[in-house]
Amino acid sequence: MSIEAFDVVDLIRVKRDGGELSTEQIRWLVDAYTRGVVADEQMAAWAMAVFLRGMAPREIRDLTFAMVDSGERMSFADLGKPTTDKHSTGGVGDKITLPLTPLVASFGVAVPQLSGRGLGHTGGTLDKLESIPGWRAKLSNEEFLAQLRDVGGVIAAAGAGLAPADGKLYALRDTTATVDSIPLIASSIMSKKIAEGTASLVLDVKFGSGAFLPEQERGRELAETMVRLGADAGVETVALLTNMHTPLGYAIGNANEVRESLEVLAGGGPSDVVELTLALAREMLALAGLPDADVEGHLAAGKAMDSWRAMVLAQGGDPDAALPSARESETVRAERSGVVTELPALPFGIGAWRLGAGRSRKEDPVLHAAGIDLHVRAGDEVAAGQPLYTLHTDDPERFERARAALEGALVIGDAGDPVADGGPLIAARIAG
Ligand code: URA
Repeated sequence: MSIEAFDVVDLIRVKRDGGELSTEQIRWLVDAYTRGVVADEQMAAWAMAVFLRGMAPREIRDLTFAMVDSGERMSFADLGKPTTDKHSTGGVGDKITLPLTPLVASFGVAVPQLSGRGLGHTGGTLDKLESIPGWRAKLSNEEFLAQLRDVGGVIAAAGAGLAPADGKLYALRDTTATVDSIPLIASSIMSKKIAEGTASLVLDVKFGSGAFLPEQERGRELAETMVRLGADAGVETVALLTNMHTPLGYAIGNANEVRESLEVLAGGGPSDVVELTLALAREMLALAGLPDADVEGHLAAGKAMDSWRAMVLAQGGDPDAALPSARESETVRAERSGVVTELPALPFGIGAWRLGAGRSRKEDPVLHAAGIDLHVRAGDEVAAGQPLYTLHTDDPERFERARAALEGALVIGDAGDPVADGGPLIAARIAG
């Protein structure tokens, strides 16, 4: 039996008592956990100690790099094109990756988007794309590189080889109420992005009821922490702090979010989805060396749509195939006339999840046609009887629990009442 460098109980105790771990201790802990020498219950105790006590910036950096070094690291240095990527901390109706990736790729920039599946009330990009008949999320490293070179945009499943320590720790955090910790979220996200090998990165850090960290100040702290980690790793990183108080756009689900993204690619779509897509595209293109790129022009001229079609085809999808529609629908109507003063993201995310758009366990399938279509936004005037939103699912038994999540969520007040929309869509820009 090999002699281990440290005793995990000592390391848990240091964090429990608010102390700092050395670089060597953190590197050993991550490696020993990946090797199975540190047990899940010990790592869970350590994660809870971090949740309660926090970590110093140097510890967060050490944790991030230890997780990067737990697996393979990709490199796009030989691609001959600039690379840039975007990561969102997740929200309700957040389909921005779908129009954004082809829009940026239409400028000849490579966008390596390694994405995840949805867990809990926030949707997953791969789940949305899998509603396109034939589309395949899993690519080999060779296929991934070939598509980056030939098409420019790739949205694919992150392989188990990237930051495996994070894969293991994230699953553990999910079952031990230790997800919403800034050091743990920042190191988790940035370890995967650094290992992925992008030269630059734009972060969309959400705050508001539908975000991991609802308070804006904590969102800002997370953004600043991740921008610093990017700089430490030589990945030029910019963050936008954006409002997830109410859902993005009108569609919440999978197939319906693809439909809404196609509207944006065709030059239309909801104003908030368009605004955020354009803002993130400008940031990504500036980091890729194209600060004056005419992003509106590419959308209007159909260049982003051409890029989308090429991306879908390259992954076996049929861009012209009909998207699935749900077998059952139910529309909720306004009980009175007035103004929509509250339309909070979280209950609508939970409602769509309960209709089958999301999953409770990693292995569960999703219903691609399930979800919610909003017919109104916060601030809209409505008349009694007017449709407010429609629930869709293939399994009518799901309606009751979805309705329970949505009970009292949408509030209709009187003209002049304050509207709880969380303020502007883009609250701040954070750069290194
Ligand atoms: N997304 C991640 O990849 N990790 C987290 O900790 C939270 C969101």
